[in-house]
Amino acid sequence: MDGVIADFANRSLERMGIDPDICTDRSSHSIETWPGVECSKGAFWKAIEGWDALGFWSNLPKFEWSDALVRMCNRYGDVSLATSPSTHPDSWSGKMHWIGKHYPQFIRKTMMGPQKYLMANENTILIDDNDDNIAEFRKHGGIGITFPQPWNTSSVHRSGHVQYVEERLDVLLKIR
Ligand SMILES: [Mg+2]
Repeated sequence: MDGVIADFANRSLERMGIDPDICTDRSSHSIETWPGVECSKGAFWKAIEGWDALGFWSNLPKFEWSDALVRMCNRYGDVSLATSPSTHPDSWSGKMHWIGKHYPQFIRKTMMGPQKYLMANENTILIDDNDDNIAEFRKHGGIGITFPQPWNTSSVHRSGHVQYVEERLDVLLKIR
């Protein structure tokens, strides 16, 4: 969900009072290491969740492509959301608020937890922005598509996010 249909990164920068435009190097998956952010993991999480964690998680912006991506995926099969909340209880409920607001059709089709690989099988495709999640999912017998973001191995494809995923789905499902 985060980094695919919910914009965790830019909302985090906003929370920290950092102008997103100065963060041009986003090649690391850990925002706290980005040039212009550089702080400890603890300081990062305190900045984004230290006050109104519920508001933070329930008000993540959608990406410009989120609706198109969801619509496109729906054409290929039965779609569920997978999302890994933080350790803060309000992250869990904030995410449910977010889903209810933007994609209520997934309210009862959401799997929450960091161990996305537990859903891995030969008929299940994980679309995720985290290379580690994809590697782990594949290792457990699932199919993975790394969603293009500057911090992952698909970053070169990020001019056409939806198109890239669609092409990968066609190849994986042998439609092309
Ligand atoms: Mg993610």
